[in-house]
Amino acid sequence: MYRINARYCVGCGACIALCPRNAIELVVTKKDVIPKIDDDKCVKCGLCASICPAIDNVFASNRYVLENMIIEFNVKAVYFGWSRDRGIRFEGASGGIVTTLLRYLLEKKVVDYVLITKHRSLSAFPLIASNVEDVVESSGSIYFKTFTLIRLRKVLNLIRRGYRVAIVGLPCMLRVVKKILPPDLRGHVILIGLMCYHINAFWYIKYIFSKFSPSTTARPISVSPRRGGWPGKIMLKYYVDNSVRNVEVGQFDLWNAISIFELTAPKGCLYCYDHTAIEGDIVVADAWHPKFLGKDILGVSLIIVRSSRGLKLLQNAVNEGFIELIDASRGDAYVAQHRNFFIRIIQMLIRRLISQRQLNIIFKYPREAIIEILRLAMVNLLDRVPFVYAYAIIRVIEKLIYILKIPSIEERIYTHYCNNPRSFLKTIKTLTLRARS
Ligand code: SF4
Ligand code: SF4
Ligand code: SF4
Repeated sequence: MYRINARYCVGCGACIALCPRNAIELVVTKKDVIPKIDDDKCVKCGLCASICPAIDNVFASNRYVLENMIIEFNVKAVYFGWSRDRGIRFEGASGGIVTTLLRYLLEKKVVDYVLITKHRSLSAFPLIASNVEDVVESSGSIYFKTFTLIRLRKVLNLIRRGYRVAIVGLPCMLRVVKKILPPDLRGHVILIGLMCYHINAFWYIKYIFSKFSPSTTARPISVSPRRGGWPGKIMLKYYVDNSVRNVEVGQFDLWNAISIFELTAPKGCLYCYDHTAIEGDIVVADAWHPKFLGKDILGVSLIIVRSSRGLKLLQNAVNEGFIELIDASRGDAYVAQHRNFFIRIIQMLIRRLISQRQLNIIFKYPREAIIEILRLAMVNLLDRVPFVYAYAIIRVIEKLIYILKIPSIEERIYTHYCNNPRSFLKTIKTLTLRARS
C-alpha cells in the first residue's frame, strides 16, 4: 500500500502538505471533500500512506493499538476549568479554555504562532495566527473535516527557523505532528488536543441543512461553529425569497441519532484508537459532569494534562489570571465523558475483530457484535450510494430509530459497561486477549 485511501480519510490534511511532488489536492465531490492524487505527478514514494492517521487506524497492528490504549490512560493531572473572560467563556466552546490558553500563549510570548482552524461559510480553513483577534474569531467547535494540517509544511518551516508554535488539533492530527517532528524540535511546539469521537463527512452538513430548511426554496449560505453558552448551538443561514433567514440548531439536534450511531463518520474514525490525544500536552473536552450539567450555561471544560510542560503552562495561565481551574480526579474525567470513554473502546475492539474475520466474537458478544456489523454495513452503504439515496435512507433510518427506540436499546446494552466497571474490565480483557491472538 503506497497511497492514501479517500474512503478512510478523516480530514487531517497532512498528506496534502507533505507530498514531495505536490501531487495531492482536495476535490469536492457530491458527498464529501476528499484528497485526490494526480497520477502524473505521483512518484509512488509512499509518504502519504505512511503518515495518514486514517490508514494507521484501520491497519495498525492489534498490538500497537493495545499499547496506545494503555497510554491513553496515562495522565499527569485532571481539572475542570473555564476562561475568566466571560465573553470568551460564553462564545467559545465549553468554557472557552482553548481560546483563552492561546490568548495567554500569544500575549505572554510563550509562542510566536498558533495553528488553529477558522470557520468560513460552509467550510473551515487552517490559519497560522500571531494575533489574539484571529484566535478569538476562531472560537467554537467545528464537527466536520477541517484539513487543518494543510499548513503543516509552513508550520515546520517556522519551527525550523526557531519560532515556537502551538498547534490545536484533533488527536489524529497531533499523532501526525509527533510522527514527523524531529525530536530536537519537539520543545518548540505545544500540542493542544481536542477530544474527539468522530467527525462527520461533509454530506452530513447537507443533510442538516435539508432537515432544518425553513422552506423548499431555501438555499444554504453558511453554518456556524457551535457557540453561545453551554451546551451551545449552531446557526444555519439560508437564503430565502431574497432575504437571509437564520435557524438555530441545538447541540443535541446536531448530534442526533444518525450522528451518534457514527453513520456519518469516515471509515478511518470507526477504528480510531486515540480519542483523548495521547500526544497532547493538554487535552480539552466538554465536561458532561453532574456537577455542571443543567447548572452551568456559560461552559466548563474537562482538561487532561499529559506532560510537565502542559502542567506548567496551565498553572502559569491561572497565576496570570487568564483561566480558572478546579481540581478533578481521573474518576471525574471518566464521569464527564463516561459513555464515550468506555463504550468507544469496546466498540472499536469488536469492530476490529469483526473486520479481521474473527467472527466467533458474535457468539461471545452477540448483541454488541450485531450492532457493529449493522453499523459497518450501513456506513459502507451510505458511503457508496449517491447523496440523494443516502439522504432518503438516512431519513428512513432516522424514523425507524425514533419508532423502535433504538438509541435506548444501544444505550441499554452499552451503558451496562459504564455502570459496571467489573464487567467493562472483563470485556476489555477478553477482547484484548482475542485481539492479541
Ligand atoms: S505516493 Fe508520494 S508522491 Fe505519490 S501522492 Fe503519495 S506522497 Fe505524493
Ligand atoms: S486522513 Fe489526512 S493524511 Fe489521510 S488521506 Fe485524509 S487528509 Fe490525507
Ligand atoms: S475519531 Fe480519531 S481519527 Fe476520527 S477525527 Fe477523531 S481523532 Fe481523528
